Amino acid sequence: MLCEMCGKESETVVRVKVESSVLEVCTACSRFGKPLAPTPGATGGGNGGGALGTDVQDRIGSHQKRMTERDLYAELPDLELDPQWSRKVREAREKLGLTQEQFGAKINEKVSVVHKLESGGMVPPDALVRKLERTLKVRLTARPEAAEA
Ligand SMILES: [Zn+2]
Repeated sequence: MLCEMCGKESETVVRVKVESSVLEVCTACSRFGKPLAPTPGATGGGNGGGALGTDVQDRIGSHQKRMTERDLYAELPDLELDPQWSRKVREAREKLGLTQEQFGAKINEKVSVVHKLESGGMVPPDALVRKLERTLKVRLTARPEAAEA
């Protein structure tokens, strides 16, 4: 076999990568190139591709997880509701002598919403909490400053 780099006759040649081409060179010249990984069975292709794919999928997966967690956090209400808020709503409404229908009309919400609120089956968004507090003249939020006063 002739070395493709120095052209000398050599008993053993080594396949090395020199820049972009693969050359069969003698052992003396092989140090100038990058040794090629042996390809037994010559299945070829996809060598290392699977590992790369998994890595990319992992990155995408963790990215989506972070997005989901942030979205959930963004949807948490700013106000900390009084543990008894639903009972307070009902008591305050009854104190005003309003039925659930009348109260619903007053705050511009459906009766089903009023019912859900008073049974604790629905956590009101901040805007509705403020509306309830204004209309019923009760405090539905557990505020730290209340404890300080
Ligand atoms: Zn050589």
